[in-house]
Amino acid sequence: MKLNKRTKIIATVGPACENPQIMESLIKAGVNVFRFNMKHGEVEWHKKFILQAREISEKINTPLGILIDLQGPEIRIKTFNGKVLDLDRGSRVKMTLNPQALNDEELVIYSPQTGVVSSLNTGDRIVIDDGALFLTVVDKQAEFVVLESHSKNPLKNNKSLNVIDKDVDLPSLTEEDKKRLTVAEEVKVDFIALSFVREKNDILFLKNEMKSRNIDAKIVSKIENKKGIVNIDEIIDESYAIMVARGDLGIETPIEGVTYIQKELIKRCRAKSKPVIVATQMLESMITSKFPTRAEAADVANAVFDYTDCVMLSGETAYGANPLEVVEIMAKICSYNESVIPGSTFEYTEMDNTKFIASSAASIAKAHNINKIIALTETGYTARVLSALRPKADIIAVSDFQATVSLLNMSGGVLAVKTKYEIHDLSSYEKIIEELVETGIVEKGETVIAVHGQTFGLPGGTNSMMIVQI
Ligand code: PEP
Repeated sequence: MKLNKRTKIIATVGPACENPQIMESLIKAGVNVFRFNMKHGEVEWHKKFILQAREISEKINTPLGILIDLQGPEIRIKTFNGKVLDLDRGSRVKMTLNPQALNDEELVIYSPQTGVVSSLNTGDRIVIDDGALFLTVVDKQAEFVVLESHSKNPLKNNKSLNVIDKDVDLPSLTEEDKKRLTVAEEVKVDFIALSFVREKNDILFLKNEMKSRNIDAKIVSKIENKKGIVNIDEIIDESYAIMVARGDLGIETPIEGVTYIQKELIKRCRAKSKPVIVATQMLESMITSKFPTRAEAADVANAVFDYTDCVMLSGETAYGANPLEVVEIMAKICSYNESVIPGSTFEYTEMDNTKFIASSAASIAKAHNINKIIALTETGYTARVLSALRPKADIIAVSDFQATVSLLNMSGGVLAVKTKYEIHDLSSYEKIIEELVETGIVEKGETVIAVHGQTFGLPGGTNSMMIVQI
C-alpha cells in the first residue's frame, strides 16, 4: 500500500456537512481532521457532531482527528437578533458594549468583550468580516462610538473585527471560551486551536484552564497578527502546532507579505518538528462554484511545495454548496503536486538522537529507493521528526496509544497505525511487521527501514535503525 495523499486536510464542520452521509464521504475523500469552530453555534451542537464524527471514523475504520477552535483575544461583533445590516458607503452604525442602552431600531452593533468599545477613538480604522467592510470611528460618546462605512456590503452577525494598528488589551480567553471548554471535558478532542495568540502567556493561560478541567488535548496556536509574528519562536516552542490564519493575518499585516510569512512559518515549524497548517480562502470560490479558480488551485499547490503539514477548509465545507467536491479537488491538487515535486532537501541544524536516526533513515531510503519508513512511537515524536524531513518514503508510525495515532492525523506524510502490542514489551519487529502485513500496509518481499528506541518504547529515545526485508 502507498499513501495516496501526504498533505493532511482539515475541514470545518457546519450545516453543509453535518449530515452523517456527507461527513462519511468527506472522510473517504481525504479529510484527516474535522475542525469545530466554537465561535459559531451552540456548545451542544458541537458536542453532538464531534461524537457523530468519531462514530463514523470508527465505523469506516479510518483515523480522524478532532479540533475545536476557540476565540481567544479575537474581537467579534454581534447584531441585534442576528439580523443582517445592509451598509452602504457613508452609512453610520453605532457600536456599544451594552446594547440595552441603545434603541435597537437604529443601526447598532455591539461587542460583548469589555475593553473593545472603550479603547476606540475618533479616527481609528476598523475592518469587519476579513475585509468585507472598512470603517472609521467618526464620533465617541459615553455609551458608544459611531462608525462610518467606506464599503457597500452586508454586516453580518458574529463576524470578526480588527482595529488597524492598535493593540486592544483583551484576555487570553473570553468568558464564552471558558464555557466552550466544557465540550472538551465531556467528549474527547485531540486539538484545541487558540485564535490570535500574541505570546507564550496566552498558551500558558489556556494550558492552565485545561489542567484545571483535566483536558488532555494539544494546542494549535493561530498566528494572525503582528505580535504573534514577533513572538513566533516562544509561541512555536510552547505549542503543539501552528496555524497560519491568513484571514486575519491579511488584515493585521500588509497583504503583500502574507505568503512570505506563510513560507517562513512553515520553515520555522519544520526546524522544530512541529506540524503547521495553512488556512483560509484556499478554495473560497467553491463556496458557490463547482470548480476552483486557477489562483486557488495554485495556492493549494504552493502550500504543498512548501511542505505544509495541513491545508484547511473553512466556509467551503462549513456552509458552502459543494463540500464534497471541494475536498475531492483539494485532495487531487495535493496528491498530484506531491508526486511531481522533488524530495525535500530540508536538514536539521540542531540534532538529538532521534533527529540523527530519522535523517539517516530518510537518506538511506532515498539512496536505495525504499518506499516505507516504519517508526515505533509512543508520543509521536519520532514520526513528527521524520515528517518534517518529508522523505519521499511513506512514514508508517506504529503506536500502542490511540491518542498518538489521532494526533498524527496532523503530520504530513505519516500514516499512523494502532498496534495491539505494547511496544515496550517487544524485543523485535517481528510481531509488528506481521500485523502490518495482515492489514496490507506492507507486503512480503518488500524492503523497509524501521526506527525505534534501543529499549523498544522508551519515549523520545529513538536511537536504532534497521533495514528489514519482509
Ligand atoms: C483566519 O483568520 O484565517 C482564521 C482561520 O481564523 P477564524 O477562526 O477567525 O476563521
